[in-house]
Amino acid sequence: MKVFKFGGASVKDARGIRNLAEITAGEKDKLVVVVSAFGKTTNALEQVLATWMAGDEGYRDLLDNIYNYHISVVRGLFPEANPVKGRIDNSFALLREYLESAKKEGYDFNYDQIVSYGEIWSTIIVAEYLRNSNLNSEWIDIRGNLITDDRYRDADILWSESTARIKSVFNFSDRDIFVTQGFIGSTIAGMTTTLGREGSDYTGALLANILDAEKLVVWKDVPGLLNADPKWLDNAERLEEVSYREAVEMTFSGAKVIHPKTIKPLHNKNIPLHVKSFISPKEKGTVIVPETNFRHGFPVYVKKENQIMVSFLPKDFSFAMRENLSRVFYLFIKYGIKVNIVEASAVSIDVCLDDDRMRVESLINDLADEFSAVYNENVEMLSIRHYTPEAIERITSGREILLEQRTRNNVRFVVR
Ligand code: ASP
Ligand code: MG
Repeated sequence: MKVFKFGGASVKDARGIRNLAEITAGEKDKLVVVVSAFGKTTNALEQVLATWMAGDEGYRDLLDNIYNYHISVVRGLFPEANPVKGRIDNSFALLREYLESAKKEGYDFNYDQIVSYGEIWSTIIVAEYLRNSNLNSEWIDIRGNLITDDRYRDADILWSESTARIKSVFNFSDRDIFVTQGFIGSTIAGMTTTLGREGSDYTGALLANILDAEKLVVWKDVPGLLNADPKWLDNAERLEEVSYREAVEMTFSGAKVIHPKTIKPLHNKNIPLHVKSFISPKEKGTVIVPETNFRHGFPVYVKKENQIMVSFLPKDFSFAMRENLSRVFYLFIKYGIKVNIVEASAVSIDVCLDDDRMRVESLINDLADEFSAVYNENVEMLSIRHYTPEAIERITSGREILLEQRTRNNVRFVVR
């Protein structure tokens, strides 16, 4: 069997879903189809959440817009009346009820209870469309099967709890296709969790691992992994074959094509990952495999935006590399802050972090007795694998370099 993952851009309208059905129908093997929320629904639900948390009744209109969008997709796919409309109505009613009655305490918890609906709606509609197209398919609610810890908004899988359930529920003896949600899961106690933004790729990899898939295919609006984001640099080239290690480094440095957590579950079972274009599904795309002898011979550029660079200075002038480093790192993990670069000198620890402002501020407060913190907001992290002097010049010229780190293969800059 194979796992196919379709992101929001591939299912943003009725046409996209017809295309998904065509790609799916063209596959001979058994399939798990992991689907994200339609288009920008996750962002729109984040807006609903923020408005609701602020006590602003305007959240109702925002939710109505999301509802109308989903109903317009339903109408586009099913010209005749279809029971799927009733299921979507019921699901929206549940969310509205939650918003009427729930306590506005705990941002991360509420985030997961609310924002997870995007994937529920999208998969209900996609599954019904496949069934209607005479594909032998079934909708699965991944909650209750993919079991996670309770770190809301960034949950991690509990392997032993999930494995047995997933193996029994995705049973292909009388089904060809299962459609399920990316990005979401639930705690043992049954509360909905999410795996972090863009987490559907990770779901795809988890299911591929547990079900021993032959491969995971991530269908994208780009022809594969490129050596640079074409919106940033000209003449980006497709990488034909990339090793797991290279792919992890690229995605961790900010290559947005796949989620960095995707690789490990695949690596652990040697399952290849194909990144392919849903616009031209016949094209080869990129294959990510355990090892590759393939030398593409050109630099790979990656940019990560919305970074914050923080320097922690021990107030008592004690050495950074001793107890201080572990103390600060313990807190990064505790607060779930993503650290992208670390540089330590005698009496300072410099880090480049994802700018998750609420978490970073709580951490700085927590450390305020022991460390003073200085920071630069709105910085970018630029990385080049297989760098050359020309490649460095190409992306750093005219930028102010705040930090530079070089290894044999890799150079990274924090710039503004
Ligand atoms: N819908 C979620 C997001 O937009 C998850 C995903 O697309 O992978 O982040
Ligand atoms: Mg997405």
